[in-house]
Amino acid sequence: MSHNSHRNHHQHSISDLKRLASGRWREILTAAGLPAELLADRRGKPCPKCGGRDRFASLPDFDTRGSLICRHCHNASSNPRSGDGLASLQWWLGCSMAEAIVWLRSFLGLGVGKHIPVQAIKPTMAPPPKPVQSESDRLRIELMADVCRRNLTGPGIAHLAKQLGVHPQSLRQLQVGWCASLCATTWPMRDGIGNIIGVRTREPVTAAKGSMSGGNGGLFYDPDRIANIESGARIWIAEGPTDTAALLTLGLDAVGIPSAKSGGDQLLELGRRILPSEIVIVADGDDSGIESARKLRSELVIVAGVRIILPPVGIKDAREWINRGASRVDLENEAGAAEVFKFDCTDGGAA
Ligand SMILES: [Zn+2]
Repeated sequence: MSHNSHRNHHQHSISDLKRLASGRWREILTAAGLPAELLADRRGKPCPKCGGRDRFASLPDFDTRGSLICRHCHNASSNPRSGDGLASLQWWLGCSMAEAIVWLRSFLGLGVGKHIPVQAIKPTMAPPPKPVQSESDRLRIELMADVCRRNLTGPGIAHLAKQLGVHPQSLRQLQVGWCASLCATTWPMRDGIGNIIGVRTREPVTAAKGSMSGGNGGLFYDPDRIANIESGARIWIAEGPTDTAALLTLGLDAVGIPSAKSGGDQLLELGRRILPSEIVIVADGDDSGIESARKLRSELVIVAGVRIILPPVGIKDAREWINRGASRVDLENEAGAAEVFKFDCTDGGAA
């Protein structure tokens, strides 16, 4: 049945509009005021709405689908959530779906009268990021991490491993050390490339945590191991260094975030570099752990499918779970049974 020609503009359905817009999304969103250079390629760029360095990108088949994402303000959990070109338009113009449809209809020449170009409201940029670490600070931190690592010899490693219930090798992989002046163990923190950018300190008895001055927060991982993961391997994310050591003890390719709701940008950089088949977040078993895992999931979903697993009720985190006897197979089974969260740009968002 071909009665499209008899329809007037009121009867154009959303799918008709999308069909007409398909292939023209670059032109449409640029006409709405989105800077064209942000759409030039798919590399991460500063978000035109909320700033940052590389949090904004267009998704595959951009001209056809018009899908855009910003890790902070336009993603699987934002409103509107990231999806097709209509969602992009709604996000960019800061308007309702109905208003975006009116705008698009008008742009496509289906509206009443002449198209009046509506420009997005001048976006307010996010405050500038905190000053970057100076190269001399970074080198000093790296040197301190190395000195501390040398302080912790075989018997020290064995003692700490026993106390934490992890394998000594996991502590070597994380290059754990000992700072005599602070009377604390030291845990290097790295950026997504593998550079040491900070050092977490942990008092062995009280478990009180701190950090060495001049450093930044970063990820706990073994850069050699992660650079050489088998293709198709999962990476496993834990909160904090000792939980990361526990996952490494089971032979899992583990990366630790510095604390709840942090490390997302660095993980994304790491993920883009190593392209894991899947990411499994082993959340801490409390409300903030779960909330943190969900936030991380929405940030990482553009790199790979993400699953979240939780220790059984009454167990607080990955290390306690493993200390109580959970095996690699147990965690893999949990992960296999957990829902996979994927970014699907064909049906308007994350499934
Ligand atoms: Zn944004």
